[in-house]
Amino acid sequence: MPDSTLPAKSAPVKTEHFDVLIVGAGISGIGGAYHLRQQMPDTSFVVLEEQESFGGTWITHKYPGIRSDSDLYTFGYRFKPWVGKPIATAREILDYMGEVIEENHLAQHIRYRHHINTAQWSSVEKKWTLEATRLDTGETVRFIGNFLWMCQGYYRHSEGYTPQWPDMDQFKGKIVHPQNWPENLDYKDKKMIVIGSGATAATLIPNVCQDVEHVVMLQRSPTYFIPARNAQVLADELRTLQIDESWIHEIVRRRILLDQANFMKRAFEEPESVKAELLAAARLFLGPDYDIDKHFTPTYRPWRQRIAFVPDGDLFRGIRSGKASVVTDEIERFTEKGILLKSGQELAADIIVTATGFHLNVLGDIAFEIDGKKLDFADTITYRGMMFTGVPNMVWVFGYFRASWTLRADLVADFVCRLLAHMKDKQAKQVEVALRPEDKDMPILPWIDTENFNPGYVTRGMHLLPRRGEKPEWQHTQDYWAEKDIFPKIDLNDKAFRYG
Ligand SMILES: Cc1cc2nc3c(=O)[nH]c(=O)nc-3n(C[C@H](O)[C@H](O)[C@H](O)COP(=O)(O)OP(=O)(O)OC[C@H]3O[C@@H](n4cnc5c(N)ncnc54)[C@H](O)[C@@H]3O)c2cc1C
Repeated sequence: MPDSTLPAKSAPVKTEHFDVLIVGAGISGIGGAYHLRQQMPDTSFVVLEEQESFGGTWITHKYPGIRSDSDLYTFGYRFKPWVGKPIATAREILDYMGEVIEENHLAQHIRYRHHINTAQWSSVEKKWTLEATRLDTGETVRFIGNFLWMCQGYYRHSEGYTPQWPDMDQFKGKIVHPQNWPENLDYKDKKMIVIGSGATAATLIPNVCQDVEHVVMLQRSPTYFIPARNAQVLADELRTLQIDESWIHEIVRRRILLDQANFMKRAFEEPESVKAELLAAARLFLGPDYDIDKHFTPTYRPWRQRIAFVPDGDLFRGIRSGKASVVTDEIERFTEKGILLKSGQELAADIIVTATGFHLNVLGDIAFEIDGKKLDFADTITYRGMMFTGVPNMVWVFGYFRASWTLRADLVADFVCRLLAHMKDKQAKQVEVALRPEDKDMPILPWIDTENFNPGYVTRGMHLLPRRGEKPEWQHTQDYWAEKDIFPKIDLNDKAFRYG
């Protein structure tokens, strides 16, 4: 009989071993799993995900109208044709990802409801150990692997960023962040204020417009928008010619990417004319009397922040209909009834939506240790925004801001598979990047040049991010056109890679 006076012996932690551990079952993690299966079929792997299903961004965001703001021909994977409208709803994106999982038998590799708490690298074992909590049973479980593929995204999924304004607690109505949209929020015939004018506000407003009494988009400063038809003329044309969908996918991707590259080049070289075109497009929808200067003319150059796409001009149509309006002003404080602005105007509301952005979250809020020493990611320097000095056997997927995220996730996946194959050939158990002798005097800079790109969540979180060097190898360049040619040719025997 067991002696009940003795403390119960704690059960051994269940531990599993894999070659590769993938963190996150969003579009990057599922893409990574696909590429690994295709390119390295003998590699064992597991995808660990804290949500109850796949999709990442596309299941955690549930506000009305949630959809992509880039086209799915390029946001979709390079290997799986997109056959719908270019701007897709979260549901359509989830269905597409579900097909990728089913067609490639990936489900067996994914463990949902696993929240990873810690990641520890041992130079003796040359392995990573991830400790996770199973959210369904509360059990602690361990996963040991040679290589860690971080596909955890870039922001905290559990809560969004809400600035604190004076007297928020005085407001008698509801304050909602789009990331935590209550399932049964009743906004029928209610007055709503949406604080912010980024992609989230631009999506939300036209989608609540019909139901609310009125919705105000309250912005401190204006944002650029691109209104255009949610249709892909070239794809539709090719379809009428009965061209194979895989061809259409590739051709349309090339068309879109070329158009984007030209647009971006023009935005840098002739920002004023690009700006004039964007404003003229808004004017077409809003009419000659609308105060475009005040509400839709940003002070920054186009492309310094992501430009939100407005499919079929829906945001502008909402404004034109009178159900939505824009107020450009600053918040003085909240009141019982709504928001008092610096101009003295008071906006009344039943619901205030804070579409004010994300909490940048590097490495999935996981506590990292290298040989027992806490890793401060900000002490590292990035190799092409994928690997980090002092962090062995780990690649991180951070997509493009200006082009579709997934373009880079596919490129990084090819790189990881090539690196793993190279390590196998060399019989290396460890790879790490390190500055080369010729990089010794290279200036070390913050992760991103805010002159070039400066959304709030990046500038707020810059101190948490790795640093970059002045040479292109040591930067996350945001340049798909350069990286698509450079990545496949990265010399894995370069002195920047150290094997062990
Ligand atoms: C509303 C919205 C719309 C967007 N639209 C576009 C767009 O149109 N085009 C574009 O290019 N980009 C867009 N983005 C950016 C978008 O986040 C990325 O494009 C892309 O979806 C990110 O995919 P991901 O798999 O890398 O990360 P995520 O989608 O963030 O998925 C990461 C996954 O990792 C899991 N995870 C994180 N930490 C842990 C942990 N500790 N333990 C276990 N699991 C963990 C998360 O639960 C999540 O499921 C949008 C972002 C938002 C918020």
